[in-house]
Amino acid sequence: MTGPQPRPTVAAIPAYVAGKPPRPREGLTVFKLSSNENPYPPLPGVVEAATEAAARMNRYPDMGSSELYDALAARLEVPREHLALATGSVALIYQLVQAFCEPGDEVVYAWRSFEAYPIAVTAAAATSVRVPVLADGRHDLDAMAAAVTDRTRVVLVCTPNNPTGPAVTQAELDAFLAKVPPHVLVVVDEAYVEFVRSSDPIDGIATYRSHDNVLLTRTFSKAYGLAGFRVGYAVGPEPVATALRAVSLPFGVSSVAQAAAVASLAAEEALLERVAALVAERERLVAGLREVGWDVPEAQGNFVWFELGDRTADFAVVADELGIVVRPFAGEGARVSIGEPEANDRVVELARRFPR
Ligand code: PMP
Repeated sequence: MTGPQPRPTVAAIPAYVAGKPPRPREGLTVFKLSSNENPYPPLPGVVEAATEAAARMNRYPDMGSSELYDALAARLEVPREHLALATGSVALIYQLVQAFCEPGDEVVYAWRSFEAYPIAVTAAAATSVRVPVLADGRHDLDAMAAAVTDRTRVVLVCTPNNPTGPAVTQAELDAFLAKVPPHVLVVVDEAYVEFVRSSDPIDGIATYRSHDNVLLTRTFSKAYGLAGFRVGYAVGPEPVATALRAVSLPFGVSSVAQAAAVASLAAEEALLERVAALVAERERLVAGLREVGWDVPEAQGNFVWFELGDRTADFAVVADELGIVVRPFAGEGARVSIGEPEANDRVVELARRFPR
C-alpha cells in the first residue's frame, strides 16, 4: 500500500457515538435526552463573563488558567498543584492513559461504562481489561481488583456509572483500594458526583488525600451546564496532576471556557438549587417508571438506564415518535437523561408502551 499509514491500533479505535441532535417536528417540542446534558440555561453571570472573554478572542487564553485554578483550589480546599484542568474530563482520560501506559499496559474498567474509555485506551495502544458490571448495573469491584496484574497501570472506576446509573459507596471503594497495589492509579470518574444522594456517598477529596494512587476526575459539563465549553478537572496527588498537565494540549481550555467556569463556581447557590431540582425530577421519574413496571437500576446520575436487549432499537423509535431523543446502545439498552418535567413525563409514557 502506498501513502501514509496510521499505526495499526488507530484502525481498532471504536467510534464514539454521540447523542443525536433532535429532529425538529411540526407542533411537537422535541427534547434531547441523549447526552446527559443540563436542561437549564447558563448559571447567573456566566453569559456575561463568557461574552467579555469572547471579545478578547484575538489573544491566546491564559495558558496557566490561573484564575480557574485558584477558584477551584479555594473551592475544593486543595493545593493548586494537585489539580489538572483539561478540555473536558474526557481529555483527562486520554491524558492519563498517555501519561501512565506504555503500549500493551493494561487499563481495567467496568463494562458497560463510559464509551470513551476503550477509545482512549486503544488510541494509546494500551490494552483494555473489561470487567462486566453486575446484573444490577453496579461495578463488580471484587472482580476488578482480581483483574489487576503486574501490567495494570490504571483502573477506571466510573461512579455513578454511565450508562447504568448506580454509584459506588465509600465502603466499597475503601475495600477496593485496600486490595489494589500502590503502582496502580485508581481513577474515580466523578462526572456526575453532584447528583449523588446515596446513603454512603464517596468523599472523593478525603479519599485522594489519604491515598497516593487515587485521582478524581470531574467536569463542568453536567451539573454546571457548560458541556459546550469543554472544561474538566482532575484532583490527585501532585506527581499525578503534574504528569497530566505535562501531556495536556497547550492552550486547550479556551478563554471563554475559563471565564465561564470561574463564573459558574461563583454561582454556587443557583447551582445547588438546580441540582436539587434535577435530583427531585430524577426521583419522580424513577417512581413513575416503577409504577408502570420498570424497576430501573439505582439512578445516581442525571440519567436512567433501560436494559432492553434486542428491543433497544424499537425503544428508540418509539421515543422519537413521542418527541424524545434517547441514547440507544445497540442490543443492550438505552440511557435517558433527566430533562424538563414535560420530557420526563414522556419518558414514563415511553416506558408504559414498553412493558418490561
Ligand atoms: N466521564 C463520564 C462518566 C461521562 O459520562 C462523561 C460525559 N459523557 C465524561 C466523563 C466526559 O465529560 P466531559 O468531557 O464533557 O467533561
